[in-house]
Amino acid sequence: MQFYSTNNKNHFVSLKDAVLKGLPDDGGLFMPEGFPQVRPEILNSLNSLTFQEIAFEVSKNLLGDSLSKTILKNIIINAFNFEVPLIRLNEQISVLELYHGPTLAFKDFAARFMSRLMQYFVKDSNSELTILTATSGDTGSAVAHGFHNMEGINVIILYPSGMVSELQEKQLTTIGDNITALEIRGTFDDCQNLVKQAFLDPDLSEKLSLTSANSINVARLIPQSLYYFYAIGQVSTKKSPVIVSVPCGNFGNLTAGLMAKNMGLPISKFIASVNQNDSFVKYLDTGVFTPVKTKKTISNAMDVGNPSNFYRILDMYNHDLKAMHRDITGFSYSDDQTRQAIKKVYQEYNYVLDPHGAVGYLGVKEYLKKQSSQVQGIFLETAHPAKFIDVVQQLVSQNIEIPERLSSCMKKEKEAILLSKEYKEFKQYLYEN
Ligand SMILES: *Cc1c(COP(=O)(O)O)cnc(C)c1O
Repeated sequence: MQFYSTNNKNHFVSLKDAVLKGLPDDGGLFMPEGFPQVRPEILNSLNSLTFQEIAFEVSKNLLGDSLSKTILKNIIINAFNFEVPLIRLNEQISVLELYHGPTLAFKDFAARFMSRLMQYFVKDSNSELTILTATSGDTGSAVAHGFHNMEGINVIILYPSGMVSELQEKQLTTIGDNITALEIRGTFDDCQNLVKQAFLDPDLSEKLSLTSANSINVARLIPQSLYYFYAIGQVSTKKSPVIVSVPCGNFGNLTAGLMAKNMGLPISKFIASVNQNDSFVKYLDTGVFTPVKTKKTISNAMDVGNPSNFYRILDMYNHDLKAMHRDITGFSYSDDQTRQAIKKVYQEYNYVLDPHGAVGYLGVKEYLKKQSSQVQGIFLETAHPAKFIDVVQQLVSQNIEIPERLSSCMKKEKEAILLSKEYKEFKQYLYEN
């Protein structure tokens, strides 16, 4: 499998180059040259395969010519060592819990897979790799955990000051060793811009071997497409159509789902569920994409005004809005609606949502209202509610338990370097450290 840039479909690079470079020089994003179809035997037996088996079958189609099958299998076994339960809320709606990894958010899937893949690729190159990652909350800690103590790799995480939850901040500022946290006086989009500028800066690329661990890195998307296959296997309804609601921020998760569909997975519709950062939903409605300033919400990991992966989705559909409408519907929700959803789902099903999953739930619920009762809806629960305990606890009467791996980092001291959002300052930091 080779990869092209969304800005130049005639220039191809290997998986290794796409993963280690992160971004093409032309400012586009890497995309796989095609989506090899998953064999019907596999699609028909998804419900009898384990997550790891599915992960191997699907990813070997994409990556099998870039690394040996044994190595790929080892990466998968090593990276996906946690549960992925699908919980049925009622006859029509199920929730796929993606938060059972070490940092309690779905970002662990991508970060654990990508870190192992990168380590495999840098192992024999003898050079040090510096990974720059902007985070809206959960990427930072997942990436930090994924790469912690990996030899030859340094990780720099940029997060927006005051815009991540206290728990999220502790998770990404208390690791140390090869992990550095930069607290940026700005928004997630400012952090993302700093990272993008650094990649395009020839002075820096001369001095450092830089790459990205954001969902702008295509290695993040591949592992995220895997759980869609697993989810479809779990609802095991041969005839009824299945729709999936994805709570979206930077749109990596949705892009990965669309990749799965392109590989042959029968998902009849994707719901892009967003908070008040609704530039994508407006685009679906009007055909005009206007990046907006980030608005702060209670589902903060989705506070993205100019989602990078929008440009990948455009590319997948050849900028054809009509074709996009066939596969994707979008809805946006306020914080109030999100709070109400957490309350209601707790009262009705005794199930505790986090604010991101709650946005996903609202999307599935709204879409199903106008469908026949045959349609099965799945929404993705992307974070453990304990990560957002300050929002969730007052909405449910049961005590939310904080898992040990979260409470232990609360006791440690935060270590972060405070910087402005000026590129000059960031560049100087990279130069001197
Ligand atoms: C990152 C994140 C999202 C948004 O995912 P994207 O792939 O950026 O669209 C949603 N929920 C949580 C908890 C996240 O951490």
